[in-house]
Amino acid sequence: MIDNPCILNDVTRCIGCEECVAACKKINGMPVEDGPPRLGHSKDGLSATRWTSIFRRPDEVSVRKQCRHCFEPACVSVCPVGALIKTPEGPVIYDKAICMGCRYCMMGCPYGIPHYEWNSINPSVRKCILCYDKLKSGEIDKPACVNACPKEATTFGSQEEMLAEARRRLAAEPEKYIQHIWGEHEVGGTSVIYISHVDLGFLAWQDKKYLGTEPLPDRTWAALKKVPLEFLGMASFMTATWWVIDRRMRLAAEAPGEKVTEAPETTEDEGGER
Ligand code: SF4
Ligand code: SF4
Ligand code: SF4
Repeated sequence: MIDNPCILNDVTRCIGCEECVAACKKINGMPVEDGPPRLGHSKDGLSATRWTSIFRRPDEVSVRKQCRHCFEPACVSVCPVGALIKTPEGPVIYDKAICMGCRYCMMGCPYGIPHYEWNSINPSVRKCILCYDKLKSGEIDKPACVNACPKEATTFGSQEEMLAEARRRLAAEPEKYIQHIWGEHEVGGTSVIYISHVDLGFLAWQDKKYLGTEPLPDRTWAALKKVPLEFLGMASFMTATWWVIDRRMRLAAEAPGEKVTEAPETTEDEGGER
């Protein structure tokens, strides 16, 4: 596996076909389709079973979203038990066996990436792992999403190669692109970078237009460590509530001859996920 692996997303080339989404689901053994957005989905389409999504803007520009694999990841810094790990090669991965479900990582990530398996009795936090295991074992030589893209809207190489390619494209067609490489410096630099003809500030959580170039770990942990007990209590309460509602719905659906009363659909925002 190459050191400092990097994905370059070129928004100008994306046709929104979602081949990347399907390939990610397939290689990671996730359901082919989740159906319409429901509990567990965020507004941008990411969920515990959808680690990359295509954000469709009103102007019909399609923008792929996934974990940025930050050089100094806030998710790693806020995890109290070390369940999120920055690997020596670069990708940020997750150890389910260690995770205690506090969801600090979801609060800390500046891009709203980690998602929680709300409808599982043994839930985990899920997100893109940059196909780390399969790249490391040599089973694949590039991430499945990159391999599937028919337009080379998403390409793979070392950080140096992808930055060089991004600069080459910006220089070759200056009128086509905004002269900026998203992720070269934001939050200290990321291993998923973007070039585009539209401003991509909207990809950050809560539409923060400018995240700054400083790494976030110190700031996020300083804020989160002030509310650990309250947050853990709320997280546990939300999980328990969902489990009870889900179980009642299943029992009602299984009961022969009984009228099934559908519980009101809970949106992700209401469920506390983002
Ligand atoms: S984008 Fe979010 S989840 Fe991904 S490495 Fe950075 S902080 Fe962690
Ligand atoms: S790098 Fe791998 S895990 Fe991440 S979005 Fe692409 S296929 Fe999915
Ligand atoms: S496969 Fe390529 S062109 Fe299709 S949606 Fe994904 S990034 Fe865009």
